[in-house]
Amino acid sequence: MKWKNDFSRFKLRSCRICRSKKLYSFLSLGMMPIPNGFLAIKDLRNKEEKYPLSVCVCEDCHLVQLTHVIPAKIMFKNYLYIPSTSLTMLKHFNDLVEDIRKKSKLSSEDLIVDIGSNDGTLLTFFKKEGMKVLGIDPSENLSLIAKLKGIENVNKFFTRKQASKIIKKYGRAKIITATNVMPHVHNLHNFFSGVSDLLTDDGIFIAEFPYVPDLFRKNEFDTIYHEHLSYFSLQPLKILLDRYHLRINELKKIPVHGGSLRLYIAKKSLLQGEKQTDAFLENEKKNNFGQLKTYKNFSRRVRKMRIALVTLLKELKRNGKKIVGYGASAKGNVLLNYCNLDTRTIEYIVDSISYKQGKFTPGTHVPIFSEERLQKDMPDYALLLSWNFADEILRKQVAYREKGGRFIITIPYLRIE
Ligand SMILES: [Zn+2]
Repeated sequence: MKWKNDFSRFKLRSCRICRSKKLYSFLSLGMMPIPNGFLAIKDLRNKEEKYPLSVCVCEDCHLVQLTHVIPAKIMFKNYLYIPSTSLTMLKHFNDLVEDIRKKSKLSSEDLIVDIGSNDGTLLTFFKKEGMKVLGIDPSENLSLIAKLKGIENVNKFFTRKQASKIIKKYGRAKIITATNVMPHVHNLHNFFSGVSDLLTDDGIFIAEFPYVPDLFRKNEFDTIYHEHLSYFSLQPLKILLDRYHLRINELKKIPVHGGSLRLYIAKKSLLQGEKQTDAFLENEKKNNFGQLKTYKNFSRRVRKMRIALVTLLKELKRNGKKIVGYGASAKGNVLLNYCNLDTRTIEYIVDSISYKQGKFTPGTHVPIFSEERLQKDMPDYALLLSWNFADEILRKQVAYREKGGRFIITIPYLRIE
């Protein structure tokens, strides 16, 4: 009874960009624990809390968003994602810094603010160049790690109020970065109003976020989870930018998180940026984003994938094959829970990150071991749970594959490699 009330309290009543109440739900992944919350052995005895995970699209502005918003204090209790542990992300940040340096004449007096600064990895690159840097991030343990690296940061959510505090203490920012942060923000209006206040008149705001047309095209349904509240295409985002007098000066596709957009946003408009934006908007229209059939088709593909994967794994088990998982990730936990895969199918998961080892996956309780175990045990199949690092992992595990081990990859389509 209590739960019923709680879930209705979490339900999204209106679109977070245009306030429309016409929200069309198109995919439910079921009740799920927070997928970043890996469990210690002592937690296994406790009843796990599960929350609805489903998505809807606003019929007016076409923003894809979760139907329920779980309070941040529940979601970020055990936050374990640190980007610096992946080579792919380090290279990505390095490229981003290079790109910014080419585009903008920065002096050592200019302030660079990273919103959602995590453990300070991105700002470390700027600091090396002698720039003034400031991070802002709500996670206590990650802020502390950043501080230990010498990255000054504010341990808060970025809001308009925090922006004005930063302005008073440090001045306005010539560069603001937010890599994969906007999907986490519930009050987008407050966020963009804060960005607009904080940015100098000649400053650039660089925003990166997974791009809905790519997410749909590649069937990346497992990037949908409780902490990602919004899934952006350009059309709804443009409404928000216009409202806060922000203009897209340039946009490009980047390969991280399964296909993202990087926007260079400023207060002044550029003809080139307007043309590019129009071309992207046109393309979204051409691919039927905004039409309900597009969302229904995506939902159908996801459900079909689940049936195909479960059938394949059952067949392999029937033939006596040993199957493990590779990469204990939040998206992996979405897949495991959605397909109801526990230790009856996946014996264990290997992961290179030491603090995940010895823990268990939320909901499905699959134990996590170190990567070395893969080649020691030589299971027949490893279900790749971090497909976004597929190239990096397949290169790293050449020996496993040479000895006959095979990876099962689900995204963009089910295959064995
Ligand atoms: Zn809307």
